[in-house]
Amino acid sequence: MKYKKLRVRFAPSPTGQLHLGGARTALFNWLFARKHGGKFLIRIEDTDKLRSKQEFTDQICDSLKWLGLDWDEEIVYQSTRIDLYKSAIEKLLEKGNAYRCFCSKEKIAEERKQAEISGSGYYYSGTCRNLDEKLVQANIKNGQPFSMRISVPEGYTEFDDKIYGNIRVNNKEIDDFIIARTDGNPVYNLVVAIDDNDMKITNIIRGEDHISNTAKQLLIYKALNYPIPEFAHLPMILGPDKKRLSKRHGATGVQEYRDQGYLASALINYLALLGWNPGTEQEIFPPDELIKQFSIERVQKKSAVFDERKLQWMSGQHIYKKSASEILNSIRFNDPDWRKSDDEHYVLKVIELMKERVKSLRDMQEMTGMFFDDPLEYDEKALRKKWKDNTINDLIAKFERSLEKIELWDAEQLEIVLRNLAEREDISAGKIIHPTRLALSGTGSGPSLFDMMVLLGKETCLRRLQKANKILPY
Ligand code: GLU
Repeated sequence: MKYKKLRVRFAPSPTGQLHLGGARTALFNWLFARKHGGKFLIRIEDTDKLRSKQEFTDQICDSLKWLGLDWDEEIVYQSTRIDLYKSAIEKLLEKGNAYRCFCSKEKIAEERKQAEISGSGYYYSGTCRNLDEKLVQANIKNGQPFSMRISVPEGYTEFDDKIYGNIRVNNKEIDDFIIARTDGNPVYNLVVAIDDNDMKITNIIRGEDHISNTAKQLLIYKALNYPIPEFAHLPMILGPDKKRLSKRHGATGVQEYRDQGYLASALINYLALLGWNPGTEQEIFPPDELIKQFSIERVQKKSAVFDERKLQWMSGQHIYKKSASEILNSIRFNDPDWRKSDDEHYVLKVIELMKERVKSLRDMQEMTGMFFDDPLEYDEKALRKKWKDNTINDLIAKFERSLEKIELWDAEQLEIVLRNLAEREDISAGKIIHPTRLALSGTGSGPSLFDMMVLLGKETCLRRLQKANKILPY
């Protein structure tokens, strides 16, 4: 489908950092815009003065930038648009689509209580809907506080959701909801409709928790004669326990994933598959491929389940596909001084060797220490299994002597020397490989021993073997 002048927006409330659900909403909007040559806009919904904070706005924007979700126009802040909202309220009032409600808090609370007792849902009784104009003016004159309510007409409100299909709500189920509080502040459902119209948004893509708001917003669209945009509500994201994804499920802020060393492209890839699938077996997508393949029609209704292990796997796949220098750049983006004093050529070789074994940039940092420093300790479990007694010391001493004689220090030679020794001793190669690995790296696992030895170089290997042979077994 070709959209003319397509405009979408991501509209976060700056009351917390960007979490995964918000990032997924932003991503789907961005993919949709990029795919159809439209515009992707940001609107900061900061009308709640108490809970909105500039630091959260900054964090959200930083996270979007880190993810690579660039936006096309200046950011719109709701807090600067109060005049626009006030004039829309005036218009609604003039047209008879809204009215002043003088009902006190106590009266409303009592109505609510009665509804609870009788087990029926609460709907505003409509007391002030048809107040005599003289009474209204007298109340205003007396300084009686009032809120503003929309006058919901009879009938049905319906829309065709791109994902959930036709949704039809009997207006009887929507009471005359408040559009401005007694302090004059407009409420969310009003300002969203006004802003989306003013920003010429053609497609609204947001979480399915907003479906019930959509009907209310449509009443405002109709009352103000706004053109109706298309709606697409995205399925919920659940944690592994099938409850709504929340902090309980571990890191939920995008920045935490960045700090844990995930690549932005991996997180984007993972989030794209939370509710969307390409209809093929393909799972690994760089961002430009996602743009090509994304279609809102393929977004599912069913809730998506967040699976941290899948994300880790995907992260490993994305790292593996990067070049060593791209990986180094990404590490230094988070940690500018990392391995700055080491030879860069050597650092890149280490990264190249290790990139298929790591799941995150942080893994890369933590698992490569052995290439730069001699081990200070040895993994105890591996020790118990692989360096049981001092028969190993004899073997290692023999291996070390054979290594000393090697002139061409490459993987092939190293392997020949090791296998020859194993043959002479009538043992399996593993009997030498495992303790050697332990002596060189301090751990029981890692990349191919011979590749590792080539990188470490002869001098370092011999030094580490001698040292281990002196102090092991403990
Ligand atoms: N500010 C709303 C939220 O953070 C989003 C509103 C919308 O997308 O319409 O949930």
